[in-house]
Amino acid sequence: MFDLYELIYVAAIVFFVIGLHRMGHPKTALSGIIWAGWAMAAAIIVSFTIPGISNVPLILTGIAIGGAIGWIAATRVAMVSMPQMVAIYNGMGGGAAAAIAAIELLGGSASVYLQLALGGAIIGSVSLTGSTVAFLKLQGWMKQTPVTFPLQQPFNILILAASAYFGLAYLFPQIPSGLAFSPIYPFFILSLVFGILMTLPIGGADMPVVISMLNALTGLAVAFDGFSTSNFAMVVAGMLVGAAGTILTVAMARAMNRSIFSVLFGAFGKTDEHDLNEARIARAIEAEDVGIMMAYAGSIIIAPGFGMAAAQAQFRVKELLDILQSRNLQVRFAIHPVAGRMPGHMNVLLAEAGIPYELMVDMDEINRELPNTDVVLVVGANDVVNPAARRTDSPLHGMPILDVDKARNVIVIKRGAGKGFAGIDNDLFYSQNTRMLYGDASEVIAALIQSLKKL
Ligand code: NAP
Repeated sequence: MFDLYELIYVAAIVFFVIGLHRMGHPKTALSGIIWAGWAMAAAIIVSFTIPGISNVPLILTGIAIGGAIGWIAATRVAMVSMPQMVAIYNGMGGGAAAAIAAIELLGGSASVYLQLALGGAIIGSVSLTGSTVAFLKLQGWMKQTPVTFPLQQPFNILILAASAYFGLAYLFPQIPSGLAFSPIYPFFILSLVFGILMTLPIGGADMPVVISMLNALTGLAVAFDGFSTSNFAMVVAGMLVGAAGTILTVAMARAMNRSIFSVLFGAFGKTDEHDLNEARIARAIEAEDVGIMMAYAGSIIIAPGFGMAAAQAQFRVKELLDILQSRNLQVRFAIHPVAGRMPGHMNVLLAEAGIPYELMVDMDEINRELPNTDVVLVVGANDVVNPAARRTDSPLHGMPILDVDKARNVIVIKRGAGKGFAGIDNDLFYSQNTRMLYGDASEVIAALIQSLKKL
């Protein structure tokens, strides 16, 4: 016979899977989060009926404090700060997994899976400190540029190997540790230190990929803990997080044309490419002229990027869409999978402003239409529209891009000569059919709307 809590765990797992599936599309993503949220709430509540549970007031206090902080932080966070919030929440998950493993290890649990608790401890600790460094870098409380030193990778591997050695020495007393105290202490300290060392050489803008990978690791740590505590809901939920995090990590790296290896060890953003375009001149245009150009265009495509997120210009973009549509102009949005700083960033922002999903067209599909488009308005996108990606000598070589340079006219909104995340110059800005509309995206689009209203 199953216990009640086990049956509810099974139901929760089914809900997790349905929730994850629904998160796969922007239209159903919110309901997917709600499904998974209810499943998690049910799994937590029913855990109180597990035979032998103790310290209930302490657990309730922890839930109240953590829940309140999480609720307040999540309702207040700005959309552009979402990656660092995910980072710190993930770090907390890793820390919780490491703490559970520590209790199993220190409590002398008779579990036959104690070696897996060791795995949960090491991975959870790495995830805790790694995610904390990611949070500090993204929040701007730590230098975003990669921190490197000679023989860094061999040194890091040595730290990880030493941590694993002390962990095994703790589990198997026949392995000598050479210490006068328990090897469990250096095991945890070195695991935590490794998380910091692993994240230091990674540049701020690569962080979303790293956070996704750390998220997968947290899932794995939770699954290991599930084995050592014989809690199958933790095993399945941990594996779901691990699998989803891994798929997302691979998808993001692929869309940036980077290998996971180069993200982790490449110290991307450390050095700038030789500036090929120094001698070339980008030509500016005024909002009034862009207004006229758009008013008489047959087809318009808007390509948003990180700058739209930074300027919170999505609401202005919606106003612009409304005025263009009121003139019977065809307008669509070109969505690059890694535009912005997190997967789906542009879809989320545009949807927040009330722009229908039907107008958001994926890269492959819109690329077929760009050569027949009259005007492309690039709103704070840079790397994802850089034709340099087609040159074999460019660091961006091979990254799939939006082919906006193939449109008849390209207007690029950005504040000045700032580079994109990759830190390289953009061939598009110097192209014959490109004009630069300089200024903060929100302000410039407001001016554009005014000019259209006057026509
Ligand atoms: P980007 O290459 O980072 O360029 C953003 C541009 O926006 C900058 O050139 C900047 O130029 C401009 N900008 C900044 N603030 C602005 C404002 N207030 N108003 C107007 N313009 C502003 O952006 P992207 O084209 O979206 O490319 C994303 C990059 O991030 C890719 O290289 C991608 O690989 C990487 N990445 C993405 C993810 C993801 O999941 N989405 C994850 C990790 C890394 P000015 O300073 O001159 O204004």
